[in-house]
Amino acid sequence: MVTPLRLYDTYSRQLREFPPSDSPARKNLETPITYYTCGPTVYDYAHIGNFRAYIFEDQVVRALEYLGWTVKQVMNLTDVDDKTIHGANPKGESVPAVEMLGRLGAYTAPHIEAFFEDTDSLNIRRAAVYPRATEHIPEMVRLIGALIENGYAYEGDDGSWYFSIKKFSRYGYLSGIKIEDVRLGARVSADEYEKEDARDFALWKKARPGEPAWDPKEFDSGSPLPVGRPGWHIECSAMSMKHLGETIDAHSGGHDNIFPHHENEIAQSEGATGKRFVRHWIHCGYLLVDGEKMSKSKGNYFRLRDVLQRGYNPLAIRLLLLSTHYRKPLNFTFEGLKGAEKNLKQLQAFLRRLERERTTVAEGPKSLGIGMGGAGVAINQAKDEFAKALTEDLNIAKALAAIFEMTRVVNTMLDDGMVLQEEMEQASEALLGFDHVLGLKLDEVREGEGVDAAFVETKLAERAKAKKAKDYARADAIRDELAALGVIVEDTPQGTKWFYAK
Ligand SMILES: [Zn+2]
Repeated sequence: MVTPLRLYDTYSRQLREFPPSDSPARKNLETPITYYTCGPTVYDYAHIGNFRAYIFEDQVVRALEYLGWTVKQVMNLTDVDDKTIHGANPKGESVPAVEMLGRLGAYTAPHIEAFFEDTDSLNIRRAAVYPRATEHIPEMVRLIGALIENGYAYEGDDGSWYFSIKKFSRYGYLSGIKIEDVRLGARVSADEYEKEDARDFALWKKARPGEPAWDPKEFDSGSPLPVGRPGWHIECSAMSMKHLGETIDAHSGGHDNIFPHHENEIAQSEGATGKRFVRHWIHCGYLLVDGEKMSKSKGNYFRLRDVLQRGYNPLAIRLLLLSTHYRKPLNFTFEGLKGAEKNLKQLQAFLRRLERERTTVAEGPKSLGIGMGGAGVAINQAKDEFAKALTEDLNIAKALAAIFEMTRVVNTMLDDGMVLQEEMEQASEALLGFDHVLGLKLDEVREGEGVDAAFVETKLAERAKAKKAKDYARADAIRDELAALGVIVEDTPQGTKWFYAK
Protein backbone atom coordinates (compact mmCIF):
# COMPACT_ATOMS: atom_id res chain seq x y z
CA MET A 1 0.00 0.00 0.00
CA VAL A 2 1.44 3.34 -1.03
CA THR A 3 -0.27 6.34 0.50
CA PRO A 4 0.57 10.01 0.06
CA LEU A 5 0.74 12.20 3.17
CA ARG A 6 -1.18 15.38 3.83
CA LEU A 7 1.73 17.60 4.75
CA TYR A 8 1.88 21.32 5.46
CA ASP A 9 3.67 23.32 2.76
CA THR A 10 5.18 26.57 4.06
CA TYR A 11 5.20 28.12 0.58
CA SER A 12 1.50 27.69 -0.25
CA ARG A 13 0.54 27.90 3.44
CA GLN A 14 -1.70 24.86 3.32
CA LEU A 15 -1.83 21.11 3.74
CA ARG A 16 -0.98 19.50 0.44
CA GLU A 17 -0.46 15.98 -0.77
CA PHE A 18 3.08 14.75 -0.42
CA PRO A 19 4.86 13.63 -2.55
CA PRO A 20 3.36 16.38 -4.73
CA SER A 21 1.22 15.26 -7.66
CA ASP A 22 3.85 16.49 -10.16
CA SER A 23 6.71 14.61 -8.50
CA PRO A 24 8.30 11.91 -10.70
CA ALA A 25 8.03 9.64 -7.63
CA ARG A 26 4.24 9.63 -8.09
CA LYS A 27 4.56 8.15 -11.58
CA ASN A 28 7.17 5.55 -10.79
CA LEU A 29 7.56 4.19 -7.28
CA GLU A 30 11.18 3.26 -7.91
CA THR A 31 12.02 6.91 -8.51
CA PRO A 32 13.02 8.28 -5.13
CA ILE A 33 11.47 11.36 -3.59
CA THR A 34 14.19 14.03 -3.71
CA TYR A 35 14.65 15.61 -0.29
CA TYR A 36 17.20 18.24 0.70
CA THR A 37 17.72 18.98 4.38
CA CYS A 38 19.83 21.89 5.61
CA GLY A 39 22.58 20.40 7.72
CA PRO A 40 24.83 21.64 10.50
CA THR A 41 27.31 24.47 10.40
CA VAL A 42 30.25 22.59 11.85
CA TYR A 43 31.64 25.25 14.21
CA ASP A 44 30.34 23.82 17.50
CA TYR A 45 28.63 20.74 18.90
CA ALA A 46 24.99 20.72 17.85
CA HIS A 47 22.38 21.65 20.48
CA ILE A 48 19.09 19.92 21.23
CA GLY A 49 17.18 22.46 19.13
CA ASN A 50 19.25 21.46 16.08
CA PHE A 51 18.49 17.83 16.82
CA ARG A 52 14.77 18.48 16.96
CA ALA A 53 15.04 19.37 13.27
CA TYR A 54 17.32 16.46 12.34
CA ILE A 55 15.12 13.93 14.17
CA PHE A 56 12.05 15.42 12.51
CA GLU A 57 13.67 15.06 9.08
CA ASP A 58 14.66 11.48 9.87
CA GLN A 59 11.03 10.92 10.83
CA VAL A 60 9.84 12.28 7.47
CA VAL A 61 12.04 9.78 5.63
CA ARG A 62 11.08 6.86 7.88
CA ALA A 63 7.35 7.64 7.62
CA LEU A 64 7.49 7.89 3.83
CA GLU A 65 9.30 4.56 3.67
CA TYR A 66 6.78 2.97 6.02
CA LEU A 67 4.04 4.10 3.65
CA GLY A 68 5.84 2.50 0.70
CA TRP A 69 7.88 5.35 -0.87
CA THR A 70 11.59 5.53 -1.54
CA VAL A 71 13.50 8.64 -0.58
CA LYS A 72 16.88 10.14 -1.44
CA GLN A 73 17.88 12.49 1.35
CA VAL A 74 20.80 14.87 1.05
CA MET A 75 22.14 16.83 4.04
CA ASN A 76 24.88 19.41 3.57
CA LEU A 77 27.70 20.18 5.96
CA THR A 78 28.45 23.90 6.06
CA ASP A 79 32.20 23.91 6.55
CA VAL A 80 32.89 27.42 5.30
CA ASP A 81 30.88 30.48 6.40
CA ASP A 82 31.21 33.41 8.83
CA LYS A 83 30.99 31.16 11.91
CA THR A 84 33.45 28.43 10.88
CA ILE A 85 35.95 31.06 9.70
CA HIS A 86 35.66 32.88 13.00
CA GLY A 87 36.14 29.60 14.85
CA ALA A 88 39.25 28.74 12.85
CA ASN A 89 40.71 32.22 13.20
CA PRO A 90 39.12 33.79 16.29
CA LYS A 91 41.60 36.64 16.58
CA GLY A 92 41.30 37.51 12.90
CA GLU A 93 45.02 37.07 12.30
CA SER A 94 46.27 37.97 8.86
CA VAL A 95 46.92 34.39 7.79
CA PRO A 96 47.50 33.64 4.06
CA ALA A 97 44.40 32.19 2.36
CA VAL A 98 46.01 28.81 1.67
CA GLU A 99 47.03 28.38 5.28
CA MET A 100 43.53 29.43 6.35
CA LEU A 101 42.07 26.62 4.24
CA GLY A 102 44.21 24.18 6.22
CA ARG A 103 43.18 25.76 9.51
CA LEU A 104 39.53 25.64 8.52
CA GLY A 105 39.78 21.92 7.68
CA ALA A 106 41.50 21.16 10.99
CA TYR A 107 38.90 23.19 12.88
CA THR A 108 35.79 21.64 11.28
CA ALA A 109 36.97 17.97 11.16
CA PRO A 110 36.34 17.16 14.85
CA HIS A 111 32.96 18.92 14.71
CA ILE A 112 31.94 16.81 11.72
CA GLU A 113 33.01 13.68 13.57
CA ALA A 114 31.06 14.75 16.67
CA PHE A 115 27.99 15.44 14.55
CA PHE A 116 27.93 11.86 13.29
CA GLU A 117 28.53 10.48 16.78
CA ASP A 118 25.57 12.50 18.02
CA THR A 119 23.24 11.53 15.17
CA ASP A 120 24.19 7.86 15.61
CA SER A 121 23.41 7.97 19.31
CA LEU A 122 19.97 9.38 18.48
CA ASN A 123 19.49 6.66 15.87
CA ILE A 124 19.13 9.21 13.07
CA ARG A 125 19.68 7.27 9.90
CA ARG A 126 22.35 8.47 7.52
CA ALA A 127 21.32 10.54 4.50
CA ALA A 128 22.38 9.30 1.06
CA VAL A 129 24.94 12.10 0.67
CA TYR A 130 26.55 14.66 3.01
CA PRO A 131 28.05 17.19 0.58
CA ARG A 132 30.54 19.69 2.02
CA ALA A 133 30.52 23.30 0.94
CA THR A 134 34.32 23.43 0.49
CA GLU A 135 34.05 20.61 -2.05
CA HIS A 136 31.46 22.43 -4.22
CA ILE A 137 33.10 25.77 -4.93
CA PRO A 138 33.14 25.23 -8.77
CA GLU A 139 29.38 24.57 -8.75
CA MET A 140 28.78 27.76 -6.75
CA VAL A 141 30.94 29.83 -9.11
CA ARG A 142 28.98 28.53 -12.11
CA LEU A 143 25.64 29.18 -10.42
CA ILE A 144 26.62 32.78 -9.67
CA GLY A 145 27.77 33.00 -13.31
CA ALA A 146 24.22 32.13 -14.42
CA LEU A 147 22.77 34.76 -12.05
CA ILE A 148 25.11 37.40 -13.49
CA GLU A 149 24.07 36.40 -17.00
CA ASN A 150 20.37 36.60 -16.09
CA GLY A 151 20.79 40.05 -14.56
CA TYR A 152 20.21 39.18 -10.89
CA ALA A 153 23.73 39.71 -9.58
CA TYR A 154 25.90 42.81 -9.42
CA GLU A 155 29.24 43.87 -8.02
CA GLY A 156 29.10 46.04 -4.89
CA ASP A 157 31.51 48.89 -4.20
CA ASP A 158 33.30 46.57 -1.74
CA GLY A 159 34.22 44.22 -4.62
CA SER A 160 31.86 41.45 -3.44
CA TRP A 161 28.94 40.26 -5.57
CA TYR A 162 25.30 40.60 -4.44
CA PHE A 163 21.87 39.35 -5.37
CA SER A 164 19.45 42.15 -6.28
CA ILE A 165 16.21 41.25 -4.50
CA LYS A 166 14.12 43.81 -6.38
CA LYS A 167 14.81 41.92 -9.62
CA PHE A 168 13.20 38.76 -8.27
CA SER A 169 9.48 39.47 -8.07
CA ARG A 170 8.67 36.52 -5.80
CA TYR A 171 11.22 37.60 -3.18
CA GLY A 172 9.62 37.48 0.25
CA TYR A 173 6.80 35.10 -0.66
CA LEU A 174 8.00 32.12 1.41
CA SER A 175 8.50 34.12 4.61
CA GLY A 176 5.74 36.63 3.95
CA ILE A 177 7.95 39.69 4.47
CA LYS A 178 7.25 42.95 2.72
CA ILE A 179 10.29 44.61 1.32
CA GLU A 180 10.13 48.32 1.96
CA ASP A 181 11.30 50.47 -0.87
CA VAL A 182 13.84 52.24 1.30
CA ARG A 183 15.84 49.10 1.75
CA LEU A 184 16.03 48.33 -1.92
CA GLY A 185 19.58 48.70 -3.05
CA ALA A 186 20.96 48.44 0.51
CA ARG A 187 23.26 45.49 1.09
CA VAL A 188 24.09 42.96 3.78
CA SER A 189 27.27 40.93 3.66
CA ALA A 190 26.82 38.84 6.85
CA ASP A 191 25.50 35.29 6.39
CA GLU A 192 22.88 35.67 9.11
CA TYR A 193 20.55 38.64 9.61
CA GLU A 194 17.03 39.41 10.74
CA LYS A 195 13.90 40.09 8.71
CA GLU A 196 14.18 43.80 9.45
CA ASP A 197 17.50 43.74 7.64
CA ALA A 198 16.17 42.25 4.42
CA ARG A 199 18.32 43.62 1.65
CA ASP A 200 20.57 42.54 -1.20
CA PHE A 201 22.64 39.67 0.12
CA ALA A 202 26.16 38.47 -0.66
CA LEU A 203 26.64 35.67 -3.19
CA TRP A 204 30.42 35.89 -3.28
CA LYS A 205 32.59 37.74 -0.80
CA LYS A 206 35.86 39.31 -1.92
CA ALA A 207 38.87 37.90 -0.08
CA ARG A 208 39.77 39.58 3.18
CA PRO A 209 42.95 39.02 5.18
CA GLY A 210 42.63 36.03 7.49
CA GLU A 211 39.94 34.27 5.44
CA PRO A 212 40.17 31.22 3.17
CA ALA A 213 39.77 32.07 -0.51
CA TRP A 214 39.43 30.50 -3.94
CA ASP A 215 40.15 31.86 -7.41
CA PRO A 216 36.93 31.51 -9.47
CA LYS A 217 38.93 31.72 -12.72
CA GLU A 218 40.27 28.26 -11.96
CA PHE A 219 36.76 26.89 -12.45
CA ASP A 220 35.43 29.34 -15.04
CA SER A 221 38.05 31.32 -16.93
CA GLY A 222 35.50 33.98 -17.90
CA SER A 223 34.22 34.53 -14.36
CA PRO A 224 34.25 38.21 -13.27
CA LEU A 225 34.27 37.14 -9.59
CA PRO A 226 37.33 38.15 -7.56
CA VAL A 227 39.40 35.78 -5.45
CA GLY A 228 37.16 35.17 -2.45
CA ARG A 229 34.67 32.81 -0.89
CA PRO A 230 30.96 31.98 -1.19
CA GLY A 231 28.14 33.43 0.89
CA TRP A 232 26.31 30.83 3.00
CA HIS A 233 23.03 30.79 1.04
CA ILE A 234 24.52 29.96 -2.37
CA GLU A 235 26.08 26.84 -0.87
CA CYS A 236 22.75 25.06 -0.39
CA SER A 237 21.40 26.10 -3.81
CA ALA A 238 24.49 24.67 -5.51
CA MET A 239 24.66 21.43 -3.50
CA SER A 240 20.93 20.75 -3.79
CA MET A 241 21.05 21.07 -7.59
CA LYS A 242 24.24 19.04 -7.90
CA HIS A 243 22.96 16.05 -5.93
CA LEU A 244 19.20 16.12 -6.54
CA GLY A 245 18.55 18.13 -9.71
CA GLU A 246 17.25 21.63 -10.48
CA THR A 247 13.74 20.96 -9.19
CA ILE A 248 13.32 18.82 -6.08
CA ASP A 249 10.35 17.40 -4.19
CA ALA A 250 11.03 18.71 -0.72
CA HIS A 251 13.40 20.95 1.20
CA SER A 252 13.32 21.39 4.93
CA GLY A 253 14.91 22.91 7.97
CA GLY A 254 14.02 24.57 11.23
CA HIS A 255 11.59 27.48 11.37
CA ASP A 256 14.51 29.91 11.69
CA ASN A 257 15.79 28.80 8.27
CA ILE A 258 12.75 30.31 6.49
CA PHE A 259 14.25 33.79 6.53
CA PRO A 260 16.71 34.66 5.18
CA HIS A 261 18.23 31.29 4.25
CA HIS A 262 15.42 29.57 2.34
CA GLU A 263 14.04 32.80 0.93
CA ASN A 264 17.48 33.46 -0.54
CA GLU A 265 17.86 29.90 -1.80
CA ILE A 266 14.64 30.23 -3.81
CA ALA A 267 15.74 33.56 -5.31
CA GLN A 268 19.19 32.26 -6.28
CA SER A 269 18.06 28.90 -7.63
CA GLU A 270 15.04 30.09 -9.59
CA GLY A 271 16.89 33.19 -10.78
CA ALA A 272 19.61 30.96 -12.23
CA THR A 273 17.53 28.16 -13.78
CA GLY A 274 14.19 29.84 -14.48
CA LYS A 275 12.60 26.70 -13.04
CA ARG A 276 10.75 25.99 -9.84
CA PHE A 277 13.33 25.07 -7.17
CA VAL A 278 11.27 23.17 -4.57
CA ARG A 279 7.81 21.63 -4.88
CA HIS A 280 7.11 21.43 -1.14
CA TRP A 281 8.70 23.35 1.76
CA ILE A 282 8.64 21.74 5.20
CA HIS A 283 9.68 23.44 8.46
CA CYS A 284 9.63 22.32 12.06
CA GLY A 285 8.94 24.56 15.04
CA TYR A 286 11.19 26.06 17.70
CA LEU A 287 12.51 24.31 20.75
CA LEU A 288 12.16 26.08 24.09
CA VAL A 289 13.80 25.04 27.35
CA ASP A 290 11.62 25.50 30.45
CA GLY A 291 9.36 27.71 28.37
CA GLU A 292 12.12 30.08 27.28
CA LYS A 293 14.25 30.53 24.20
CA MET A 294 17.53 28.70 24.63
CA SER A 295 20.45 31.05 25.24
CA LYS A 296 23.94 30.69 26.63
CA SER A 297 23.48 33.71 28.91
CA LYS A 298 20.34 32.28 30.52
CA GLY A 299 22.09 29.00 31.34
CA ASN A 300 19.39 26.99 29.53
CA TYR A 301 21.51 26.20 26.51
CA PHE A 302 22.03 22.46 26.05
CA ARG A 303 24.13 20.70 23.53
CA LEU A 304 23.12 17.06 23.11
CA ARG A 305 26.31 16.11 24.95
CA ASP A 306 25.38 18.18 27.99
CA VAL A 307 22.18 16.16 28.35
CA LEU A 308 23.85 12.79 27.74
CA GLN A 309 26.49 13.61 30.36
CA ARG A 310 23.70 13.70 32.92
CA GLY A 311 23.14 10.02 32.22
CA TYR A 312 20.00 10.17 30.07
CA ASN A 313 19.31 7.57 27.41
CA PRO A 314 19.69 9.23 23.97
CA LEU A 315 16.67 7.29 22.71
CA ALA A 316 14.53 8.84 25.45
CA ILE A 317 15.71 12.24 24.15
CA ARG A 318 14.66 11.10 20.70
CA LEU A 319 11.24 10.05 21.99
CA LEU A 320 10.79 13.38 23.76
CA LEU A 321 11.81 15.42 20.70
CA LEU A 322 9.44 13.56 18.40
CA SER A 323 6.39 13.43 20.64
CA THR A 324 5.27 17.04 20.09
CA HIS A 325 3.74 17.76 16.68
CA TYR A 326 6.56 19.00 14.48
CA ARG A 327 5.01 22.38 13.68
CA LYS A 328 4.32 23.29 17.30
CA PRO A 329 6.93 24.79 19.63
CA LEU A 330 8.45 22.05 21.76
CA ASN A 331 9.14 22.76 25.41
CA PHE A 332 12.09 20.74 26.63
CA THR A 333 12.23 20.06 30.38
CA PHE A 334 14.13 17.45 32.38
CA GLU A 335 10.81 16.48 33.92
CA GLY A 336 9.55 15.73 30.42
CA LEU A 337 12.71 13.78 29.65
CA LYS A 338 12.19 11.58 32.72
CA GLY A 339 8.65 10.93 31.50
CA ALA A 340 9.99 9.96 28.08
CA GLU A 341 12.41 7.51 29.71
CA LYS A 342 9.50 5.92 31.54
CA ASN A 343 7.46 5.64 28.35
CA LEU A 344 10.39 4.14 26.48
CA LYS A 345 10.91 1.52 29.19
CA GLN A 346 7.22 0.69 29.08
CA LEU A 347 7.37 -0.06 25.36
CA GLN A 348 10.57 -2.09 25.74
CA ALA A 349 9.08 -4.08 28.62
CA PHE A 350 5.95 -4.79 26.59
CA LEU A 351 7.98 -6.12 23.68
CA ARG A 352 10.06 -8.33 25.99
CA ARG A 353 6.94 -9.62 27.69
CA LEU A 354 5.48 -10.61 24.34
CA GLU A 355 8.69 -12.43 23.42
CA ARG A 356 8.87 -14.15 26.80
CA GLU A 357 5.26 -15.31 26.93
CA ARG A 358 5.30 -16.36 23.30
CA THR A 359 8.22 -18.71 23.90
CA THR A 360 7.55 -19.79 27.46
CA VAL A 361 3.78 -20.08 27.80
CA ALA A 362 2.54 -23.56 26.90
CA GLU A 363 1.17 -24.17 23.42
CA GLY A 364 -2.24 -22.57 22.89
CA PRO A 365 -4.15 -20.13 25.08
CA LYS A 366 -4.82 -20.85 28.70
CA SER A 367 -8.49 -20.92 28.06
CA LEU A 368 -10.55 -20.87 24.95
CA GLY A 369 -13.88 -19.20 24.85
CA ILE A 370 -15.66 -15.88 24.87
CA GLY A 371 -13.38 -12.90 24.52
CA MET A 372 -10.52 -14.60 22.70
CA GLY A 373 -9.32 -12.81 19.57
CA GLY A 374 -9.82 -9.38 21.16
CA ALA A 375 -6.10 -8.68 21.14
CA GLY A 376 -6.01 -9.14 17.37
CA VAL A 377 -8.70 -6.50 17.00
CA ALA A 378 -6.76 -4.07 19.20
CA ILE A 379 -3.58 -4.68 17.21
CA ASN A 380 -5.24 -4.06 13.85
CA GLN A 381 -6.88 -0.95 15.17
CA ALA A 382 -3.50 0.37 16.34
CA LYS A 383 -1.97 -0.34 12.92
CA ASP A 384 -4.76 1.52 11.14
CA GLU A 385 -4.60 4.48 13.49
CA PHE A 386 -0.82 4.62 13.31
CA ALA A 387 -0.74 4.79 9.49
CA LYS A 388 -3.61 7.29 9.46
CA ALA A 389 -1.85 9.55 11.97
CA LEU A 390 1.29 9.58 9.80
CA THR A 391 -0.67 10.66 6.76
CA GLU A 392 -2.32 13.49 8.75
CA ASP A 393 0.55 15.98 8.65
CA LEU A 394 2.88 13.48 10.32
CA ASN A 395 1.01 13.41 13.59
CA ILE A 396 3.48 11.30 15.59
CA ALA A 397 1.84 12.29 18.89
CA LYS A 398 -1.37 10.66 17.69
CA ALA A 399 0.52 7.65 16.35
CA LEU A 400 2.18 7.22 19.76
CA ALA A 401 -1.20 7.38 21.48
CA ALA A 402 -2.37 4.49 19.29
CA ILE A 403 0.68 2.45 20.30
CA PHE A 404 0.25 3.09 24.04
CA GLU A 405 -3.43 2.16 23.80
CA MET A 406 -2.53 -1.13 22.13
CA THR A 407 0.09 -1.74 24.83
CA ARG A 408 -2.43 -1.10 27.57
CA VAL A 409 -5.14 -3.33 26.10
CA VAL A 410 -2.86 -6.25 25.22
CA ASN A 411 -1.02 -6.08 28.57
CA THR A 412 -4.32 -6.38 30.42
CA MET A 413 -5.37 -9.30 28.23
CA LEU A 414 -1.99 -10.98 28.82
CA ASP A 415 -2.59 -10.68 32.58
CA ASP A 416 -5.84 -12.56 32.05
CA GLY A 417 -4.31 -15.20 29.76
CA MET A 418 -6.53 -14.01 26.93
CA VAL A 419 -3.95 -13.60 24.16
CA LEU A 420 -3.37 -16.26 21.53
CA GLN A 421 0.25 -17.02 20.68
CA GLU A 422 -0.25 -15.83 17.12
CA GLU A 423 -1.62 -12.56 18.50
CA MET A 424 1.52 -12.15 20.62
CA GLU A 425 3.51 -12.55 17.44
CA GLN A 426 1.27 -10.05 15.64
CA ALA A 427 1.65 -7.57 18.46
CA SER A 428 5.44 -7.75 18.52
CA GLU A 429 5.57 -7.54 14.71
CA ALA A 430 3.32 -4.49 14.76
CA LEU A 431 5.43 -2.85 17.46
CA LEU A 432 8.66 -3.47 15.56
CA GLY A 433 6.97 -2.10 12.42
CA PHE A 434 6.01 1.09 14.30
CA ASP A 435 9.59 1.28 15.52
CA HIS A 436 10.84 1.49 11.91
CA VAL A 437 9.21 4.93 11.98
CA LEU A 438 9.95 5.91 15.59
CA GLY A 439 13.54 4.64 15.58
CA LEU A 440 13.57 3.86 19.31
CA LYS A 441 15.44 0.54 18.98
CA LEU A 442 12.80 -1.15 21.12
CA ASP A 443 14.36 -4.55 20.53
CA GLU A 444 17.73 -3.51 21.91
CA VAL A 445 18.55 -3.26 25.55
CA ARG A 446 20.88 -0.50 26.51
CA GLU A 447 24.24 -1.68 27.73
CA GLY A 448 24.32 -1.92 31.48
CA GLU A 449 20.57 -2.29 31.79
CA GLY A 450 20.42 -6.04 31.52
CA VAL A 451 22.87 -8.81 32.13
CA ASP A 452 26.38 -8.40 30.80
CA ALA A 453 26.31 -9.54 27.18
CA ALA A 454 29.85 -10.98 27.30
CA PHE A 455 28.85 -13.14 30.26
CA VAL A 456 25.85 -14.50 28.34
CA GLU A 457 28.02 -15.28 25.32
CA THR A 458 30.52 -17.18 27.49
CA LYS A 459 27.71 -19.19 29.03
CA LEU A 460 26.24 -19.96 25.60
CA ALA A 461 29.62 -21.16 24.35
CA GLU A 462 29.81 -23.48 27.36
CA ARG A 463 26.32 -24.72 26.61
CA ALA A 464 27.17 -25.40 22.97
CA LYS A 465 30.21 -27.38 24.10
CA ALA A 466 28.08 -29.42 26.54
CA LYS A 467 25.53 -30.16 23.83
CA LYS A 468 28.25 -31.27 21.45
CA ALA A 469 29.50 -33.67 24.13
CA LYS A 470 25.88 -34.84 24.53
CA ASP A 471 25.89 -33.60 28.14
CA TYR A 472 22.27 -32.41 27.93
CA ALA A 473 21.84 -32.11 31.69
CA ARG A 474 24.67 -29.57 31.79
CA ALA A 475 23.30 -27.73 28.73
CA ASP A 476 19.86 -27.46 30.35
CA ALA A 477 21.36 -26.33 33.64
CA ILE A 478 23.09 -23.42 31.85
CA ARG A 479 19.86 -22.54 30.11
CA ASP A 480 18.06 -22.43 33.47
CA GLU A 481 20.83 -20.41 35.02
CA LEU A 482 20.44 -17.80 32.28
CA ALA A 483 16.65 -17.88 32.53
CA ALA A 484 16.95 -17.05 36.22
CA LEU A 485 18.80 -13.88 35.14
CA GLY A 486 16.04 -13.00 32.71
CA VAL A 487 17.88 -14.20 29.63
CA ILE A 488 15.80 -16.29 27.27
CA VAL A 489 17.69 -18.70 25.02
CA GLU A 490 16.16 -19.84 21.76
CA ASP A 491 17.58 -22.54 19.47
CA THR A 492 16.60 -21.70 15.90
CA PRO A 493 17.62 -23.14 12.52
CA GLN A 494 19.84 -20.02 12.19
CA GLY A 495 21.62 -20.84 15.44
CA THR A 496 21.12 -19.97 19.08
CA LYS A 497 19.53 -16.60 19.85
CA TRP A 498 18.96 -14.89 23.13
CA PHE A 499 17.24 -11.84 24.53
CA TYR A 500 16.45 -10.18 27.82
CA ALA A 501 13.02 -10.71 29.28
CA LYS A 502 13.20 -8.48 32.34
ZN1 LIG B 1 20.76 25.30 3.80
